[in-house]
Order: sequence, then structure tokens, then C-alpha cells
Amino acid sequence: MDASFLSNDFEDVVAADRTNVWHHMTQHKPYESSDPRIIVEGRGMRVWDQKGKEHLDCVSGGVWTVNVGYGRESIADAVRDQLVKMNYFAGSAGSIPGARFSERLLAKMPGMSRLYYCNSGSEANEKAFKMVRQLSHQRHGGKKSKILYRERDYHGTTIGTLSAGGQDERNAHYGPFAPGFVRVPHCLEYRSQYGEVSDYGARSVAAIEEVILREGPDTIGAICLEPVTAGGGVITPPEGYWEGVQELCRKYEILLHIDEVVCGIGRTGTWFGYQHYGVKPDMVSMAKGVASGYAAIACLATTEELFDAFKDNPDDPLNYFRDISTFGGCTAGPAAAIENMRIIEDEGLLENCTAMGARLMGNLAELKERHKVVGDVRGKGLFCGAELVADRDTREPADERKVQAVVADCMARGVIIGATNRSVPGFNNTLCFSPALIAKPDDIDHLTDTVDQALGKIFG
Ligand code: PMP
Repeated sequence: MDASFLSNDFEDVVAADRTNVWHHMTQHKPYESSDPRIIVEGRGMRVWDQKGKEHLDCVSGGVWTVNVGYGRESIADAVRDQLVKMNYFAGSAGSIPGARFSERLLAKMPGMSRLYYCNSGSEANEKAFKMVRQLSHQRHGGKKSKILYRERDYHGTTIGTLSAGGQDERNAHYGPFAPGFVRVPHCLEYRSQYGEVSDYGARSVAAIEEVILREGPDTIGAICLEPVTAGGGVITPPEGYWEGVQELCRKYEILLHIDEVVCGIGRTGTWFGYQHYGVKPDMVSMAKGVASGYAAIACLATTEELFDAFKDNPDDPLNYFRDISTFGGCTAGPAAAIENMRIIEDEGLLENCTAMGARLMGNLAELKERHKVVGDVRGKGLFCGAELVADRDTREPADERKVQAVVADCMARGVIIGATNRSVPGFNNTLCFSPALIAKPDDIDHLTDTVDQALGKIFG
């Protein structure tokens, strides 16, 4: 790496950042006296901070976003070419990259046939919620409007999506929330609510059915679920879970909305997480990996059947989706997304993700053998977690401060990992690993060797 950028003086940048920026998810009092970090450059899986220190980024930009890695000039070129030609036009007007990307993406999603553009994962989920509510008015006199969501899942930061938020620590103090969102139990087998059972998946599905029957099936319009729960603990679904959910949706005429904001576009080794489980969603929201952070873009994919429901009565002035997203008309997003997809296909990154994910899971299983603080390891593709416990028998969660100390120790050793902090009170004890899909065997081994050393240092 050419470290020429180090000749720059970053003191003024650090000062401006300290004085002016209100950072995401940050307690600013401790931050004021901490060592600030400005990420200055990135190449592949590596980033450099203002002091020139190199870090192996094993969280893809902090929150599972930069799937194809840093420094992709071809994406920057595609965005630049598009922006100088036509950067933006909103409303019903189309754009060349918007049309092209929709065609390419939907070809990877059999059963899905329409793509709605917006800017963030929260917004894509809000669009889905609005569609459910509007349909309930158009078809059911406003009745079939409730939306089921799951304990530990996260769907965004707006009041609407927090109303569907299964992570209590994130929701605290932001109420009152929107009515009509109903919680179903989580499906983390390691934290079984039903004791040790051989049919945890079926029990979890039965628990959802109980909620449906309690509320009344004719009041429920949709269920919104992450395919693999991300920030709530990297929760892979138990055996039979998705098949059961699909069956409930069919039985009670409930729309299935899958939140692929994290898993979408390759993170788990398939284009979408739900494709591991053979389910047929009605709506799929996506954001982070769509353009790997090279442009702000999110989308909601729907079936043709759902789309048709909004156009079947042209005499009714309210019978269309009366929604807009100002920056859904920015062409940088789909231009970046087309090139992002090309890279994934041409470089075989789905296959690499599957192979490297298997290696990562194997290494994590070895860590579990070596460190009794590792209670459970879970994952799909390059989306893995290790839950830390104070006691393997009782499964009492490890002290959150120690979990954070492991993250900090890895950082000091030049490896960036994540942890489920500020999500589920008492259970912010899962280390998270989500390297870019370009990871090589050496990167994976270096990651787990570093975690091995950090666990040894913090937990002995
Ligand atoms: N859904 C999931 C599963 C997420 O993890 C996130 C963000 N972490 C969101 C939705 C919200 O996305 P955004 O921050 O782009 O609004």
C-alpha cells in the first residue's frame, strides 16, 4: 500500500470532526476523551486510519455493507459516467440504470417482478409497511392491517420501523410507537424458550400461530422477518422454521415480507438469504450490499400479484401507491448496483462466500473447543457469530464490558470485528464477523487467530 496520504495533516480534520459531527450510535462523553478514528483509505478488505494504521476490516464497513470490498474503481467509474450524463430525475420518469438494474436483479429472484427504489433499509421497510396498510384499506375495509415482527429482529431507525423493532434496548425512550405491530417470539435455539426440545423449529412456528390466533387472522396483513437475524445475535433459523412460516402465511392469507437489508446481494452465499430455505416471499427489502456502500440505494421487490393490487381500479383516485422517495430518483445508486452485481458474478463471489464462510465456521468451531467462554457459534456464508457465555452450563451471558474488550483488543491488533451491542438487554454478548465476499483463506485465518488471542487475553 502506498502510504502517501500520510503526508497529509489530519489534525484539522480530527478537530473538525470532534467539534461538529454528531456520530451514529455514539455516547459522546466517553468519545470526547477517546482516540478518534478517521478512516482515510480502503483497498480490498483493508482500511487505513489517519495515523496510517492498517486494519483488516471483518465487518464490511461496520455494518455488513461493503460486500465487494474497498477501492473498486470500476464502480466509481460507472457512477461518474452516469452522473455526468444524467444524475437525477424523480417521480414517474425512469432512468437507464434504474431500468437495467431492475431487469438484472429480478432475474435472480424468481417469483419477484417489480422493484421500487429508495435510499435506506428503513425506508424500504416503511414502503412495505405502507403497502400492507394501503391494501388493508383497499381490500379489507382497513381490517387486515397488523404487521407481525419478531423479538430480536431489527428493521430500521424510523418510528415506523422501530414499531416493528424486536430489540428493546434500541427502542427504549423512543416511544410512543405506531400501533398495529405485534411481536412474535425469537427463534434462537441456543436460547430456547421451550426448554431442550427436539422440534424447536416446529415449536417456534407454533408460537407464531398462537399469536395469529390470539390477534385474529383477519386482522393480520403481513409478517416481516430477517432471513438470518443480524444485530439481534446472528440467528440462523432452526430446522423447518421457514417452511412452517410459509405455511402459516398461506393458511391465514398473510403477506410474507423478508428483510434482506443485511443478507441481500450475496452475504450468505446466495443472492438472497431466503433462497437457502426455498420460501416464496411477497416483498423483499434490501439495501446495504446492493451497491456495497458506493452509493446510497435501497429497494423493495414485490410480486406481480401485489403490484397488480395497486392498479386494478383506475376509477378510484386513491388506488395507486401514493409514495415517493426524493433520492429514489438518483441514478448513482442503480449505476453502482449494476457494476456491483457484475463484479459478484464475474469474480465468483457467491461461491467464494460459501467456501470462506465454511472455513470461518470451521475455525470458529475450533475456537469453541479452545475457549469455554464461547458458548455457541452460528452463521451462514460470510455472516457469522460467536456467542460468549460466563458459564456453559447455565448459558449465562458473558459480561458485556468484556465482550466489548475483546472487540477493542482485536482492534488494537489491527482486526475490526463487531458485537451485538445496544440491541437486546442482557444479551449483547455475540461477536459478529462479516468480512467482504472477496476474503481469502489467509484473511479468515488471520481473523480467527486474532480473536483467539483476544479471547485468551480477556477471558484467560
Ligand atoms: N433491516 C436490517 C436487518 C438492518 O440490519 C438494518 C440496518 N442495520 C436496517 C433494516 C435499516 O437499514 P438503514 O440503516 O439503511 O435504514
